[in-house]
Amino acid sequence: MSLMYAIFGNPVSHSKSPLMHNLAFKGLGFNGCYNRYRLEEGEKLRETFFALGLKGINITVPYKEAAYRACDQLDPFAQKVGAVNTIVEKEGKLYGYNTDAPGFLKAISEFEDAKEVLFLGAGGTAQSTAVILKEAGYEVSILNRSAPRLERFVQEGFETATFETFAPHPYDLVINMTSAGLEDDALPAPKTILDAVIPSAKACVDVIYGKETPFLKLAKQHGKPIKDGSDMLLYQGIIAFEHFTDHRYGFDEIKHHMQKAFQW
Ligand code: NDP
Repeated sequence: MSLMYAIFGNPVSHSKSPLMHNLAFKGLGFNGCYNRYRLEEGEKLRETFFALGLKGINITVPYKEAAYRACDQLDPFAQKVGAVNTIVEKEGKLYGYNTDAPGFLKAISEFEDAKEVLFLGAGGTAQSTAVILKEAGYEVSILNRSAPRLERFVQEGFETATFETFAPHPYDLVINMTSAGLEDDALPAPKTILDAVIPSAKACVDVIYGKETPFLKLAKQHGKPIKDGSDMLLYQGIIAFEHFTDHRYGFDEIKHHMQKAFQW
């Protein structure tokens, strides 16, 4: 009998995860099947998981904190950042992981001598990725349009600013961590600020994937190398797949099959 997996979120209709994981299951000959499930209430995550007889799930917006609360065991990094995007069932217990942050860290590893990084945005994705980048030796500054979400970053020792208090200095990478540009034509920060920080950057990165956002278009106008969120999505998926299949397969062989989802 196939082991059953799914992505939980709301909405989930746009998600590439079922295609990514099913291609890898098929390519590697693993007897698994991955579906999508639109969850209406985060507090129902745990009972829904068991009612559907699942072996593992990914969790997307807006349930990563609910997923954190639903687990019996958390890996140390997920525990630290308070957000879970991958759950695996083992002997009736739910084990939670965060693979977004290591996926992002790997995605930007191609910018070898980058050290100083400016994050535009202070949401859940910025939080987990800022922590892992700091642990990896990057210096991360956080710029957000409003102050409340910056409080947690201040407590964790990050340099933070709002648009009103920002004093730019040179950064190696400028990274859009907001949802600006996802379903609209908004820039993640006022153009004057972006025009001040982009020229000295080595590259500009966006976590949004599958489209060239206004931010990446502006970076291109400045002649900068750009990178969207596709590799982050692929790498978080590969790391989740390693957990789903109990580390039976190597990163590169999973990648070989999973990356075909991006050719469709
Ligand atoms: P959150 O809802 O937690 O945070 C949203 C952030 O974006 C906040 O800082 C918010 O600022 C800011 N923001 C939203 N709209 C605007 C705007 N018009 N102008 C300026 N700032 C804005 O989102 P997540 O952290 O969950 O997700 C952020 C992005 O990351 C999304 O686009 C998501 O698709 C992407 N993502 C990509 C992944 C991948 O694999 N490639 C994985 C996970 C996420 P404020 O505090 O002022 O409201």
